[in-house]
Amino acid sequence: MRVPVTAYVGLGANLGEPAAALARACAALAALPGTTLAARSSLWRSAPVDAGGPDYLNAVAQLRTTLTAPALLAALQAIEQAGGRTRPHPNAPRTLDLDLLLYGDAAIASPRLTVPHPRWRERAFVLRPLQELAPQLVGAAMLDAVAAQRCERA
Ligand code: AMP
Repeated sequence: MRVPVTAYVGLGANLGEPAAALARACAALAALPGTTLAARSSLWRSAPVDAGGPDYLNAVAQLRTTLTAPALLAALQAIEQAGGRTRPHPNAPRTLDLDLLLYGDAAIASPRLTVPHPRWRERAFVLRPLQELAPQLVGAAMLDAVAAQRCERA
């Protein structure tokens, strides 16, 4: 029996009904095998980074899971596929993005998975919600460094 690991997942959506997409994604996370949804941050609204389009809604989920990191990534991708596409046509834009931010204190660098997520420290929409759940992980200097990014509680 594997010992549960605390993992943090970043959620974002900016098309369709973002709040509903994030709520469905959290329900799907809670339903994963060997996994409990330990906590969920507030919803935050952020400007798209390096892209146009509507504002994003973002949140961070704290999981306790016995899934391995690769299995968790595969599960996140399945949730994106199942709930994250608008219906009209096969290549409709993605409405849901799930990132594995942290998996315990693991450091992983494989072709398909990098943990901690390579950009988690650079993004206000990760750091602000993560600070709600794990203030010990998010220092004042980290928040100062992203203060120019528009990101407010939704
Ligand atoms: P994106 O389109 O931004 O969601 O990126 C998805 C791609 O990033 C997939 O090919 C994943 O295999 C890869 N990837 C690498 N590390 C991570 C991570 N920590 N969380 C999510 N996707 C990751």
